[in-house]
Amino acid sequence: MPECPKCGSKLGRIHRRPVDRFYSLLNPIIRYRCRNTKCHWEGNMRDPSQTLTKKRQNIFLWAAILVGAIGFGLVLGKILNK
Ligand SMILES: [Zn+2]
Repeated sequence: MPECPKCGSKLGRIHRRPVDRFYSLLNPIIRYRCRNTKCHWEGNMRDPSQTLTKKRQNIFLWAAILVGAIGFGLVLGKILNK
């Protein structure tokens, strides 16, 4: 669990607001609240399970599938046009 950027105490996960859920579609985030009762910091942090490298891997995977599908389509088209 990450630490509070304001006081350094442990953070607890809380439910995201609708706007956070929408934002999460593009950039996965988790909403946290500071467990220090005197601090009350609340905010969004990037989802550590959805790191940029993992996101990039997904983009490369989809690009590979797309290129593969186009290549397959071209080959299939050539075969069918013969
Ligand atoms: Zn705090």
